[in-house]
Amino acid sequence: MRRESRELLLGKVGVGGCHPITVQSMTNTDTRDIEKTVIQILELESQGCDIVRVAVPDMEAAQAIKKIKSRINIPLIADIHFDYRLAIEAVINGVDGLRINPGNIGSKDKVREVVSACKDRQIPIRIGVNSGSIKREVIEKFNGINENSMVFSALEHVRILEEVNYNNIKISLKATDVALTVNAYKKAAEVIDYPLHIGITEAGTPWSGTIKSSIGIGSLLLMGIGDTIRVSLTGNPVEEVKVGKQILRTLGLLKDKIEIISCPTCGRTQIDLINIVKQVEERIGNISKPIKVAIMGCAVNGPGEAREADLGIAGGAGCGLIFKKGQIIKKVEEDKLLDELVNEINKL
Ligand code: SF4
Repeated sequence: MRRESRELLLGKVGVGGCHPITVQSMTNTDTRDIEKTVIQILELESQGCDIVRVAVPDMEAAQAIKKIKSRINIPLIADIHFDYRLAIEAVINGVDGLRINPGNIGSKDKVREVVSACKDRQIPIRIGVNSGSIKREVIEKFNGINENSMVFSALEHVRILEEVNYNNIKISLKATDVALTVNAYKKAAEVIDYPLHIGITEAGTPWSGTIKSSIGIGSLLLMGIGDTIRVSLTGNPVEEVKVGKQILRTLGLLKDKIEIISCPTCGRTQIDLINIVKQVEERIGNISKPIKVAIMGCAVNGPGEAREADLGIAGGAGCGLIFKKGQIIKKVEEDKLLDELVNEINKL
């Protein structure tokens, strides 16, 4: 069961509460280059990105937000380190959310100024604790970088915002180590009810980072923890979105496309199944139907093993069977298999 969390709004997108789990990404363009940043965000949107974050290292980047916002459709978060003036400028320029740690802003007056700007416009603030940036005294107090020091650090930042009566907050506690990340979120979920943004930080390349993120994010989501996710990959952020959406689909948390089940092939396979699966993915990958389609290599085990699929094909020698819920409905030539399958999908 999903953990109960408070809800907040990032632009028009709800996070926490009963809102669907959202997928976030972050641009890797220079935010001051408005054209390149907009193009990348629109590409992320086309892949289903729900929320996007941009780095705001200086005033020019904070001011670029206005023009970027006018050309995109999803909520925009400004990622700010230390400088409260950049946070205020980003808010003035229409940003939907801030990622800034109040403990790093400086005096209470500066925190108050940021909060006051956010309050006027209902802008949520994400507190992001990273295992690599925990203060030395906190590490010493808790004998190292562990879930206790990470959660303590997050609570320190939370307290600063709560003291100025601000609780439009979202929290993240990321580490590069999967087990540490999972334990930190589990602990945080026990003591706070703010929405949690989950992910494994600096997870690596698209190949290894996908595995690492899927294990970490997947483990947490299975425990009901996580309101919004980011897969952090060294590469094109579009890949982050694709992986993030697929993690949600795999766990049944997103049902926007046909789920394809396919067998690994073996010595019984008599058709070019690997190629057929690729073609099926291309032909039906974008059809928005919450159904399962199985592509199996043989009629001996195929229909039975894929009984839970709504539709499927099972290969034979130069031909294939089409089956529905495990029951064979027709036999067709191998070269017509794909067209027949698509016809049957369209009938559902
Ligand atoms: S479905 Fe048939 S071809 Fe595919 S792995 Fe199983 S036995 Fe082999």
